[in-house]
Order: sequence, then structure tokens, then C-alpha cells
Amino acid sequence: MHDAPAILLHGAAGTGLWEALRERAAALLCEAPRGGHACGACAGCRLLAAGTHPDLFELLPEALALELGVREPEEHASGQPSREIAIDAVRRLVDWSHATSHRGGVRVALVHPLDAMSLPAANALLKTLEEPPAGLSFFLGTHRLDHVLPTLRSRARLQALPRPQADAAQALLRQRGCAQPEAVAAWCRNAVHATQPEAGLEWAVGVLAWLDGQGTAAARRALVDAAPAAAVAAAALQKIGVDLMRARHGLAPLYLPQQGSLLQRLAPRAQPAQWLARWQRLARAAAESGFALHAGLSAERWLLEFGQLHTRSED
Ligand SMILES: [Zn+2]
Repeated sequence: MHDAPAILLHGAAGTGLWEALRERAAALLCEAPRGGHACGACAGCRLLAAGTHPDLFELLPEALALELGVREPEEHASGQPSREIAIDAVRRLVDWSHATSHRGGVRVALVHPLDAMSLPAANALLKTLEEPPAGLSFFLGTHRLDHVLPTLRSRARLQALPRPQADAAQALLRQRGCAQPEAVAAWCRNAVHATQPEAGLEWAVGVLAWLDGQGTAAARRALVDAAPAAAVAAAALQKIGVDLMRARHGLAPLYLPQQGSLLQRLAPRAQPAQWLARWQRLARAAAESGFALHAGLSAERWLLEFGQLHTRSED
């Protein structure tokens, strides 16, 4: 009998990919599952919740493990935690895979994100991925399917993780005490599992108000002072651009549905197609790690350009 092949789950960032991988692991490791779901109460579920299940191996880059709380930061750790899956960690997984199950059941290995694996690390994993020891299941994840090495991708069965529906996304936000779940869910297009799904929303609403007020210098300075991190500011301006362009074409806003009438008022004055191309380049630059520009400085420059392109048709 062949074991099930590794599953490679792919989906947009912030849509709950890690949570979905953990759910798959939980359903398999639960010792009294109900309808395919973990019971949350058995010994297996309790070990999983405590992060000490011996039959689960979570292979993550150091930096992501710290962000997700999978590992505690080491007290005397030096240097930046790595964003790559290290070959040493892959070798530990391979060694672990040859041990027997502690609790006599199945074992699960989670690897995320699969695109964070260098070629040597991937090579160290290939054989185990292709012919896992009996009882071992692999669940792999990635937000960037096109960045996964073909040798890894070809050994897994692909599954797309759908974006959460609006009502589920809003329910999760409400549960977390979010004051404006509809606006935030739209702003992040339901990617509510992101660390800060609301990042940039308040600022974007301020930018629209500034444009509506003919873009005075004092208002611009206030926006520069309140600017979020460069990547967030760039993404926010890009979202405004998309919604202005949609308003020009008579389409409902995607990111800022609460600002519909304001967007409609601003749209005829905007030159969104021109600056959308510009902001897309900027957003790509801002998304690169090590984007060196000071956030306030770049926000000021961007707002100036933004305002110019916005008002040119009025000249
Ligand atoms: Zn259980």
C-alpha cells in the first residue's frame, strides 16, 4: 500500500495557510476525530495545542517560527533570524522521519513556506518526500507557487486554499474585537489572518480626505507624519489607485467600499492608470526586504507625486 502523496497547499498571504496546515495535522493526530475534525480534547489534541506533540514536525524558517510563536526566541541569539529553511533543519526532519511513532499512530511533517528552501536543502528532503516512511504524512505550504523548486513541486499533489468568504473574515475580525470588520475585511480582501489586516486603512482614508480637500500642504505634512511603514504606504496608495480606476469605469470599490461616494467624486480628477503603473513598481520595490528609504521621506515624495497626478486634469 502506498501512503498518500505529500499535499502542497497554496494560497495568498494572510488567508490562513499556516492555520489550514495545522488543521490538517490536527485532524490526523487527533485520537478521537469527529467528522474529519480534531476533537480538541484528547491527549493528542492537548499535546498539539501545547506545541509538544512528538509525532509532529514543523519545518519553518527561524524568522517565521518566531513570528508564529512556534518557537520562543532564544535569549542569547545573535544576528537576524533566517528567512530560509536551513539544510540542518531538513536533516533533523529526515532523521526524525525514521524514528517510530511515539503515540502509536500517524505522524505529520509540516513544511512552510516550501519556496524558502535552497537547492541543497531541497535535495536533502527529496527522497523522504518521495518515499515517506509508513505512517508519515507531509503537508507543505506556499504563498508563491511559482517560486517552489520544480523537483519539490512535482512530488506533491497541489491544492489551492480558497480566500476566506467575506462573512467568515468579518466574523473572525469581530471575534478579535475589531471595530469596523466590514471595512477591514474589504481592505485586506478577506486575508484576515495577516498580522495586521487593517494596516494602512486609516491612513488611506486620510489620503482620500486630503485629495478631496484639494491637497493642501499642511494636510500633506500631517499625512507624512502619520505614514505607516513604506511597504504599507505603497500598498495603500496602490489600493486607492485601483479603487479610483474602478470608480472611473463605474465599478464598485474593491478595497474601500465605505468611501464609495468620495471615490466617485474624486475619480474624474484622477489619472489613475498613469500612476498605478508607477505605484506598482514602487510597491514591488517596497516589498523587497531591505527597502532602505525612510518611511516618512518616501511617503512625502509619493504623496507629492500622487497629488500632482491626481489634479493635473484640472489645470
Ligand atoms: Zn483529539
